Amino acid sequence: MSLPQRTQVLIVGGGPAGSSSATFLAQAGVDVMVIDRAHFPRSKPCAEYLSPEASRVLHAMGALQAVEDAGAAQLTGMRVRAPNGFEIEGAFAAEHGFRGFRDRGLALRREILDGLLLDRARAAGATVHEGVTLEALDAEPRGYAVRLRHDGVEHDLHADLVIGADGLRSRVARALGVARRSRWPRRLALVAHWRGVAGIGARGEMHVQRDGYLGLADVGGGLTNVALVVPARLAKGAAGNADGYVRDWLARYPHLAARFEHAERMSPVRATGPFASHATRAWAPDAALVGDAADFFDPFTGEGIYAALRGGEMVAPYVLEALRAPTAKASAHALRAYDRERVRTFAGKWRVEKLIGLAVSFPALMNHAARVLSRRTDLADLLIGVTGDFVPAREVLRPGVLWRMLVPPARS
Ligand SMILES: Cc1cc2nc3c(=O)[nH]c(=O)nc-3n(C[C@H](O)[C@H](O)[C@H](O)COP(=O)(O)OP(=O)(O)OC[C@H]3O[C@@H](n4cnc5c(N)ncnc54)[C@H](O)[C@@H]3O)c2cc1C
Repeated sequence: MSLPQRTQVLIVGGGPAGSSSATFLAQAGVDVMVIDRAHFPRSKPCAEYLSPEASRVLHAMGALQAVEDAGAAQLTGMRVRAPNGFEIEGAFAAEHGFRGFRDRGLALRREILDGLLLDRARAAGATVHEGVTLEALDAEPRGYAVRLRHDGVEHDLHADLVIGADGLRSRVARALGVARRSRWPRRLALVAHWRGVAGIGARGEMHVQRDGYLGLADVGGGLTNVALVVPARLAKGAAGNADGYVRDWLARYPHLAARFEHAERMSPVRATGPFASHATRAWAPDAALVGDAADFFDPFTGEGIYAALRGGEMVAPYVLEALRAPTAKASAHALRAYDRERVRTFAGKWRVEKLIGLAVSFPALMNHAARVLSRRTDLADLLIGVTGDFVPAREVLRPGVLWRMLVPPARS
């Protein structure tokens, strides 16, 4: 494989954020080069659920049909079980007056999804180089001198603009001096695919316990994604024995253990974490961050893929403007505007994520909220709609709504 000496836009990372950015930019006629240190298909520890609104971006990328044809499971809503056994059940198609692009979420193994999205970027005109790692970035008067490594050999090129879509612990964010690790929550995840888990239906499930939470979802092909997330301080026993750790955890909860009695694990247990991190800003001169490289909080609300896809769609017009800008100052102005739009778009959602993260960290709060919401399907639907990215976050952040989520309805 021969690598070029220069490119207009270098995208580091070929996950959902990189593929989305590449597709929208290539569709606009930009010379785009994507690199990823991995060879695809590659695995990625993830619960693999895509919110209903993610389908809108997939459609805009021209990838939705391929994702559905690949056998993605269709999810109709979510079920959250609190430690006290109360359940919050919310549907994507509900009476609150908001509709998603689709009434269903999708779930598909990342080995399949990410390869499909990268193929879509290729079809749109981007050049994709797998097995190529970003080693260093040095700012030039306009653009960057970039050092790559491929098959142990270093390669230098010039990029007019760099997009960091390289996920958690982003090399690009660190090189730009904007990376920040969040102190809370510090959690680790252990993820695998199983076959034969009993009772898996069309709703994604979250089971919250005092020592972590478990996500279960159909991901198509008869497989269930099983994602256990535990506080980092409790995860010491997981090192070197991830499978045993997950089985011991399940065995502690009879309602879950019974469902795994005849189940078989079909893939290695992959560990990842801690994940909470955010960049102080998602831009620098001639550079932008998208997806987890810009921020990630916690997998509980499961919308990292949507944020990555939407981020790529959002950044593209600003990158176009930056590339056309006659001066470095005008280019910086365009990229700063991207960051402002990002914050405007996601800030409400970040608040909701933090509130949910708080409830997950404090079981008494989760128990209380579940007791109330198990009797308020209207509020449960609204909350699930927010996590599904089609109900604006402000709908649940109104003081009156928050109050109703905490105060049990009067018995009729
Ligand atoms: C346990 C867990 C469960 C989750 N469940 C869900 C869920 O159900 N739904 C959901 O929407 N989100 C979920 N998420 C979040 C989701 O996985 C991420 O938000 C999403 O993958 C972000 O996409 P991305 O493209 O930004 O990063 P990634 O998918 O991580 O892609 C980054 C790419 O960059 C490449 N890369 C990294 N460094 C370099 C380098 N130096 N040079 C070249 N290439 C590099 C990597 O190889 C990788 O392919 C979950 C996360 C975790 C941890």
